Amino acid sequence: MKWLQSSDTDFETRLSSLLADRSAVETSVSTPVRDIIAAIRAQGDTALCDYTARFDRLAITPETIRISEAEIAQEADKVDAELMEALTLAATRIESFHRAQMPSDLSYTDDAGLTLGMRWTSLDAVGLYVPGGKAAYPSSVLMNALPARVAGVERIAMCVPCPDGVLNPLVLAAARVCGVSEIYRIGGAQAVAALAYGTATIPPVDRIVGPGNAYVAEAKRQVFGHVGIDSIAGPSEVVIVADNRNEPRFVALDLLAQAEHDELAQAVLITDDAAFAQTVVEALGNELQTLPRAAIAGKSWADHGAVVIVRDWAEAAQIANRFASEHLEVMLDDPEGFATQIRHAGAMFLGRNCPEAVGDYVGGPNHVLPTSRTARFASGLSVFDFLKRTTSIAADANGLRAVGPAGVALARAEGLGAHALSLSARLDALGWNQG
Ligand code: NAD
Repeated sequence: MKWLQSSDTDFETRLSSLLADRSAVETSVSTPVRDIIAAIRAQGDTALCDYTARFDRLAITPETIRISEAEIAQEADKVDAELMEALTLAATRIESFHRAQMPSDLSYTDDAGLTLGMRWTSLDAVGLYVPGGKAAYPSSVLMNALPARVAGVERIAMCVPCPDGVLNPLVLAAARVCGVSEIYRIGGAQAVAALAYGTATIPPVDRIVGPGNAYVAEAKRQVFGHVGIDSIAGPSEVVIVADNRNEPRFVALDLLAQAEHDELAQAVLITDDAAFAQTVVEALGNELQTLPRAAIAGKSWADHGAVVIVRDWAEAAQIANRFASEHLEVMLDDPEGFATQIRHAGAMFLGRNCPEAVGDYVGGPNHVLPTSRTARFASGLSVFDFLKRTTSIAADANGLRAVGPAGVALARAEGLGAHALSLSARLDALGWNQG
């Protein structure tokens, strides 16, 4: 863990090196991923079945790539009632937040008499990647499928690897809650390629969303352009801005909640009280004694964790903006006031009783967020990822008279004769006097 104090002379150098710590790009798998995508494009289902046998130890045929509705029901029904209730509560909250996000179409007539508009339409087909190599992520199903559903996407196809053929009841129950029934038991780069280019059994989609390991992330990067993608997610991050009125153990647990995701995850505490920070670090050490994922969390904290001691909260806000972190917790007396100074953060968690884990599952806003400081220019997953805009211009003779001559001048200046003529011929017919 690094300990930085803003009053130290080498502070800027050390902060810059901490900020440079984050990267979402893993290039070592580029070549194998390229080969897998090429094989899926050339051989379709045959290659898909071969890779699934090789990487997931699962023998499938084109007929069994898709998980049947009966299998989905059989597995989903295994989920106990309490968990089902939690899943349904989470789904209801996520759906209602994303419904509130839906934008309105735009249309107005301007002074020149032109009617200008912008209309939102949903994508036709979306592919949802749900990771399943080492662990299962039902919350990812909800966070990716529900915004697509709310946006009005008609076809949502889901891929989830099933190593050794094992289906995950909770993942399938989450899919059922979201109304997703087109589910394929495939994963990795081959699943991404199949969604992007299609095979005999899997029709292609228009956009692929969802997290995954390095193979999945690289495959998404390589198919981008042919289809849309959401983002390339790097290791998770949290910045916690806390004063000394907080319970140190709560702050420590929030730091660990981020650190336990991944050895590369980053958890940072920004505070104005060095003695308080010290008690948080001690509490964190105590919790590590009993935490189930202590090995991962401990390494993340040791290699990437940091404490930053600031002079005041204005300085804390400036530094938080420079981190542009995926998650920002604000545990101060006036969290909303502090939040007005924040311009770069994937998601904010405001107040002493709002740990980031609320947002992971049941808050409502999406938990798929920009990492690796990309919150400088990117946002979390939303209905906007599943919508696109089409603009429109309606002009009558008066409208063309008003704006056409300027268009002719610009077209002539660009040397585009047909452009100029398509305007001027009509203007001439309307009695345009070029002077
Ligand atoms: P995964 O589904 O991403 O990957 C499993 C697939 O990887 C396998 O099906 C196989 O096809 C492929 N693969 C494995 N070894 C390979 C090899 N040598 N060559 C080619 N392909 C190979 O599941 P995972 O591995 O458990 O990874 C899940 C990832 O998703 C983790 O990194 C986790 O942190 C991340 N995740 C992120 C979020 C988020 O919101 N950012 C949420 C959930 C999970």
